[in-house]
Amino acid sequence: MEQSKGRRLVLFPFPFQGHINPMLELANILHSKGFSIAIIYTNFNSLNPSTLNPHFTYHSIPVDLTENEVSIKDLIVFVSVLNAKCVEPFRECLAGLLSDDVNLEGTIACLITDLLFDFTRSVAESFKLPRMMLRTGGAASFVVYSAIPLLKEKGYLPISNSRLEEPVTELSPIKVKDLPTIPNCDPEDFYQLITNTTNESKASYGLIFNTFEDLEGHGLATIRQEYYPNIPIFPIGPFHKCSLATSSSSSSLLAQDQSCISWLNTQAPKSVAYVSFGSLAKIDQAQFLEIAWGLANSGQSFLWVVRPELVEESDWLEVLPNGFLETLNKRAHIVKWAPQKKVLAHPAVGVFWTHCGWNSTLESISEGVPMICMPCFSDQMVDARFVSDVWKVGLQLEHGIERGEVERIIRRLMVEKEGEEFKERALKLKEKANLCLKEGGSSYKSLDGLVKHILSL
Ligand code: UDP
Repeated sequence: MEQSKGRRLVLFPFPFQGHINPMLELANILHSKGFSIAIIYTNFNSLNPSTLNPHFTYHSIPVDLTENEVSIKDLIVFVSVLNAKCVEPFRECLAGLLSDDVNLEGTIACLITDLLFDFTRSVAESFKLPRMMLRTGGAASFVVYSAIPLLKEKGYLPISNSRLEEPVTELSPIKVKDLPTIPNCDPEDFYQLITNTTNESKASYGLIFNTFEDLEGHGLATIRQEYYPNIPIFPIGPFHKCSLATSSSSSSLLAQDQSCISWLNTQAPKSVAYVSFGSLAKIDQAQFLEIAWGLANSGQSFLWVVRPELVEESDWLEVLPNGFLETLNKRAHIVKWAPQKKVLAHPAVGVFWTHCGWNSTLESISEGVPMICMPCFSDQMVDARFVSDVWKVGLQLEHGIERGEVERIIRRLMVEKEGEEFKERALKLKEKANLCLKEGGSSYKSLDGLVKHILSL
């Protein structure tokens, strides 16, 4: 196919599920606007191009990670190792694509990389290639990330256990306990990593957000006015609602168990609690059992994603008491990985118990499904605070995971009258998510702006 000049883009997702999905959705959106797309991906958590948009070209780069490095528990160390090991293979791959340029593929207008790949700045500069960045998390949490130097100066960070319930007055409605942390990592290393990425993004040609003005207008305004006055900001989400992916295309690293949908088809409208904690969160065996008993005792049907690595020191479901599932008599369906967007769009789903990863949060909002929030790390606590206190479309499990509390919160949202109000607000927010993508809507206009911006680079 003949490619038009300046309409070729190179996209480079960070190889975690919650980063791959939005980057590939963004690729679909930009493709629908007439750009041709090249995706560079690592052989760690490798994509499977045969399941992806067939109109793109895919370029795998070998990242030579040792077994030890792959199993690093400290996410911060892992991110730095990956950045370091990507530099040369990425440079080579990009050089190859740029030389195709001169031949038949058309000029590369710009490189779009994940914020976590901060090494790409120097590589892009060495090729004089403009680089834009994708923030796969929300705008409110990005404000919190950008404020880390201030939070340290004011003494909120590092977090002190005696101050957890205190409000962070500079970032209302955030509390000290909502500030970003990552398990098994030195907090100072984490703050440093975040500060590096937010600083690096200041040297980009623009920041793309998977969010929308009616949801995060305040955060976006703060980013524009206080932190990034010189960088164009493009909130064009929710991506998955505007990307015209072929229905069969899937960027899932794990196989999605389609039995979820046939099981949901047998359930009454709004009667199912969907439970999933994303691709990285872990729980211990005691928590797993509290969740299981809380779900069982709630009396509601549930669809539960138990990733093989979700429960520490366990392969899958063997921690459940013998006969647990049988006694629930088809009221429960457990899978290793679900087609989550289809699940959330299913009329049988009444509530989503989530870890509040940004993709999950936005996918739930886009379908008008109220949430039970159980944030685990990084930006998830901020997302959860906004779900419960700002948009008021969910409740937080504030007192840890305990079966009685789980049962109560499910019943509050699914059985009691109070739940109706959450549903109503969630449906209103869904309506706003739909409207922003329509002609004249904020994300629609921002996407137009993004296309013009890329063409002007
Ligand atoms: N997801 C999925 N099936 C599952 C659980 C999650 O397809 O069973 C997808 C989900 O739709 C979302 C992504 O995985 O797009 C998870 O991203 P998120 O930001 O919510 O959480 P993370 O995995 O980064 O913690």
